[in-house]
Amino acid sequence: MEEKKEKSEGKKLEEALTWKAPHIGKEAPEQRQEAEDFCQGYKAFLDEGKTERECVEGITKRLLASGYTPFIYGKKYNPGDKIFLVNRGKALIATTFGTKPLTEGVRIAGAHIDSPRLDLKPSPLYEKQDMAYMKTHYYGGIRKYQWGTVPLAMHGVVVKKDGEICRICIGENPGDPVFCVTDLLPHLASRQNERKLAEGLKGEELNIVTGSIPYVDDQVKEPVKLMALKLLHDRFGITEADFYRAEIEMVPAQKAVDVGLDRSMVGAYGQDDRVCAYTALMAELEADSPAYTTITLFADKEETGSQGNTGMCSDFLEHYMGYLADMEGVDVRQVFARSLCLSADVNAAYDPTFSDVFDPNNSCYINKGCVLTKYTGSRGKSGSSDASAETMAKVIGIMDKAKVYWQAGELGAVDQGGGGTIAKFVARLNIDTVDLGVPILSMHAPFEVASKLDVYHTYRAFKAFLD
Ligand code: MN
Ligand code: MN
Repeated sequence: MEEKKEKSEGKKLEEALTWKAPHIGKEAPEQRQEAEDFCQGYKAFLDEGKTERECVEGITKRLLASGYTPFIYGKKYNPGDKIFLVNRGKALIATTFGTKPLTEGVRIAGAHIDSPRLDLKPSPLYEKQDMAYMKTHYYGGIRKYQWGTVPLAMHGVVVKKDGEICRICIGENPGDPVFCVTDLLPHLASRQNERKLAEGLKGEELNIVTGSIPYVDDQVKEPVKLMALKLLHDRFGITEADFYRAEIEMVPAQKAVDVGLDRSMVGAYGQDDRVCAYTALMAELEADSPAYTTITLFADKEETGSQGNTGMCSDFLEHYMGYLADMEGVDVRQVFARSLCLSADVNAAYDPTFSDVFDPNNSCYINKGCVLTKYTGSRGKSGSSDASAETMAKVIGIMDKAKVYWQAGELGAVDQGGGGTIAKFVARLNIDTVDLGVPILSMHAPFEVASKLDVYHTYRAFKAFLD
């Protein structure tokens, strides 16, 4: 038997004075099952919504099932009432009215539901050497070489000449065909291998294999392209001109799956930032009688800098809060000044294989809970809203009280790169804001990895925040 040693003075002092985020799997292994159960719904949500529009539909479906009604300006709402407002089918705000007046501020959880992908160009279809292809323009920060030889599905909408909206989804149902970008075989890649990794596949090489069988007719100039158009027309009633009235996104066809022998992780496309969208949504749905009015926000266009009227640079949130303030007869600026926002976004999990881009003391780790990111930005915090000590204290206080496992992390080591979130666009409104989300491995890749325990504790963080 091992002898139980009495704790030395130094050991006691060490325990009292030092702190490191604990590993949930060591400290609370019994939570594995809760996390596992929670992530079943999460994986279904990921498979259901691979574009911002599909995501809005999936969220709307869940809101309606939980008794939310579309926001009506001027209607009298009471504490506990639940409403939502959709912005152009691509962004959404959900609210549960709190018991406190708006002048005490609201609680905002803001995630984004767009993810990096390959968008079809406005005129995508072409034929070359008896093959039909579609041209793409990548959306968001991707490492282009990762997108070759990955099965892709085609998702989107086409607005036809008569205004009818046609939805396209090919590659998701069992038996559906998929699409792909080809890459060179190693035998012939010696020159390509000399390229810098960023140019492993170039933007204009991200061409989608679309078909290879011609429409047999001597008079037709591009019969393989025509065959592709005919098949699209047969199924959707669209013609080549309709592509100019379309938004079509090529996304990985892969479904969400468990990763690892222990099934401790989820692997899927688009976890940045649908992991925060789902965890915030679940917390919002369960907020029955919150003290502060909740604003759970699902934004578009984050991956391209939040521009556009469905992104956070639009005044959509500002107007919405203005409506609520008008209806309560208060000045919205007073509401802004007292509100608190969790900008719900992912951070880069420490990757032992690429340890040199991380500061081990200031990185987030898989299985240590949700990650609080005080600031993002690059080159001297440039472009970051940098949460104040007071804001950090408020949020840490909320999480500690609810026994949420949390950690803090920077996005990589100093001057290794950087990034941004929607935080600064909320902070611009004079709202206390900090980033909180899930550590992700292989962020922005066609297949991203997150820990189920981290997903679960991010949900618990939003739940504590919104309740
Ligand atoms: Mn993100
Ligand atoms: Mn991102």
